[in-house]
Amino acid sequence: MPPALVEVALPLPVDQTYTYLIPEGLEEAAVPGRRVMVPFGRRGEMRGFVVGRPESCTFKKLKQVTAFLDDGPVLAPDVLALCRFISRYYGCSFGEALDAALPSGVKHGRAARSVAHAELAVPPERALEIAEELPDRQAKQARILRLLAKERKAVPLPQVLSKAVSSRSPAETLMKKGFIRLKRIRLETDPLNEPAATKEAPHDPTEEQSASIRAIGGAIADEVFAVFLLFGITGSGKTEVYLQAIEECRRRGRQAIILVPEIALTPQTVRRFRSRFDRVAVLHSAQSEAERRRWWKATQAGRVDVVVGPRSAVFAPVPNLGLIVVDEEHDSSFKQGRAPRYHARDVAVVRAREANASVILGSATPALESYHNALTGKYRMLRLTARVGGGSLPPVEIIDMGREMDEVKRFTHFSRRLRAVLTESMKRGEQAMLFLNRRGFTTILSCRRCGESLECENCSVTLTYHQGHDRAICHLCGYERRVPPDCPACRQPGLKHRGFGTEKVESEISALYPESRVARMDSDTMTTRDSYEQVLDKVGRGEVDILVGTQMIAKGLHFTGITAVGVVDADTSLRLPDFRAAERTFQLIAQVSGRTGRGERGGRVVVQTFRAGQPALLAAAKHDYLAFAEEELRQRKAFGYPPFGRILLAVIQGKKLPSVKKRAMEVVDILRSELDSGAARVLGPAIPPIERVKERFRRQVVVKANGPAEVQRAVALLRGRRSGGRQGVEVILDVDPTSMM
Ligand code: ADP
Ligand code: ZN
Repeated sequence: MPPALVEVALPLPVDQTYTYLIPEGLEEAAVPGRRVMVPFGRRGEMRGFVVGRPESCTFKKLKQVTAFLDDGPVLAPDVLALCRFISRYYGCSFGEALDAALPSGVKHGRAARSVAHAELAVPPERALEIAEELPDRQAKQARILRLLAKERKAVPLPQVLSKAVSSRSPAETLMKKGFIRLKRIRLETDPLNEPAATKEAPHDPTEEQSASIRAIGGAIADEVFAVFLLFGITGSGKTEVYLQAIEECRRRGRQAIILVPEIALTPQTVRRFRSRFDRVAVLHSAQSEAERRRWWKATQAGRVDVVVGPRSAVFAPVPNLGLIVVDEEHDSSFKQGRAPRYHARDVAVVRAREANASVILGSATPALESYHNALTGKYRMLRLTARVGGGSLPPVEIIDMGREMDEVKRFTHFSRRLRAVLTESMKRGEQAMLFLNRRGFTTILSCRRCGESLECENCSVTLTYHQGHDRAICHLCGYERRVPPDCPACRQPGLKHRGFGTEKVESEISALYPESRVARMDSDTMTTRDSYEQVLDKVGRGEVDILVGTQMIAKGLHFTGITAVGVVDADTSLRLPDFRAAERTFQLIAQVSGRTGRGERGGRVVVQTFRAGQPALLAAAKHDYLAFAEEELRQRKAFGYPPFGRILLAVIQGKKLPSVKKRAMEVVDILRSELDSGAARVLGPAIPPIERVKERFRRQVVVKANGPAEVQRAVALLRGRRSGGRQGVEVILDVDPTSMM
């Protein structure tokens, strides 16, 4: 009898699977979806997944599987099939896709019940002094010290390292020097996973809600695949529709998966699901591995009815899928920024199709792709046009900042109108939100004489000055330095600060409104999940008068006390060199408008811009999605952009520019010679908006095709050529990219 063989997928960017021998007597263990340990090259051993049982193999010197892990398969056949689709469609290896489907808590075997936390071993003041004295090349150590000095308590080590953009070794050096120490802290139950104290009864649906619930309920009852675009303005009760559809699903013994943008995964959101259902699992990235493993097992065993989580929850191992809800389906966080570069919304549709399940895509500002699919009948459109309990969307005023500055004859970040609206809210004891999609204090430090600006050593972007740290920091790689006393290029003393970020808005607003309590919320102040919850609680209790922040504050927050919203600079997204710039701007304004006008006192929105005539802004100010979509679809069609055409973005990157250029030319040559020039255009190689990131030079090649088939051909041509090779140049494939940077 020939020896038994097993096909194994490894999490490597290599376009193939590997065959191994099964040790005698273990044939039964080699079930697809089970993890295995196998010998692999110079790496020694690697973990992979069983994906098949080949009959024969021409390769002679086969090695043997070292071990079969876990008690059985960890991925079910439907998820294996989904990963196979992801691998093919997005051009990653099968192993990479499988790896993404399994959360790390499950991956790392028996998960610990405690987690290593780092804390200062010296007083915070001393830690700050030490940080100050460290030379620039030990900036990582300095950042760790400053972070811990600010937190004043033990912080989970993984969080410390990710926030300080550091590897483990700087932390170990600090331990050796006796400045910080590690302690293991027993995990408490995750607050997001506590059952709700009180259960809430369903609301009597409005007529519009009823119509939607009936349509979705029908599809669930018939067990047919259907995708619904639930297009409803903010506050129109989309969530109530989800809840009743989930209930329908639960009654029929099937499970529902709810995908939400990670940042919107707040206790507020989770409470709404828990207060309706008993068996709810919440998955999120800040969760401990033990917790995640627990929920995974419970879900797999069918002890969970509803799974709520960010994009990776699309892989949740529910045994009998009935419904997937994608809330805020237009949100770009559903697209993963590393391989596999999948879009959870699109993967949800594929998974549901295989399971004869339904999908609800909910949004107040649908992605144009989804909207187009609804217009053409591929998805079914359901509309909610009114806010529940009346109430209207707040008036939005557009302020032309160029004109404002001409009139007041000075430079200002806050127009008279924005000031007036803020002042009024403050006088009445209400709350306000100020929004700016840029963190830091000033964004450019440049020389008055030669114009040279302070750039990152590793990336081709300017450094952002952070007053709180008194450092200039790179937002791409975390590189930081002190601000030099004079221009590094021409020695002219003193660099000029230009641009402004949330830190500066906070400081200027505090000066303008000394009586008001101002808080800032961006990824600099939100170093832990706790700090996020704390600020939100404070806003909820009315202990914050003005909340300043980035996009973070624009999502999923419901506070009735907020009566004024200011968009300090609406042009941050309009300026991006991306065909979705107008769409992003429209979504942003619709989203921030949704933060106010929910209470009885109504609300106002002031949007500041230098492009007051921009159609997307004008449509947003009128809350007119249809007008926006019509104009934008016309433009997209004229230029062959999605949803009319499809795009593949290939980024070629490596440390040596000549090799990168050479490889980019090769990529272009392959594509031009193999693709049908009538069906696809190959653009490039071009220098991307940011040429160098983390010491790697980049070039990009764009395939603009008239349909998915031609993009798939391009992916098939390039997928085997992704890995570094001898020159260390890699080719990153991004199918249906959401960012062209
Ligand atoms: P959306 O998700 O569309 O922004 P929400 O689901 O947050 O809207 O609904 C807004 C508010 O209206 C919530 O407080 C919700 O509990 C309430 N609500 C929703 N549907 C109903 C209904 N049929 N009757 C009464 N209140 C409702
Ligand atoms: Zn950098």
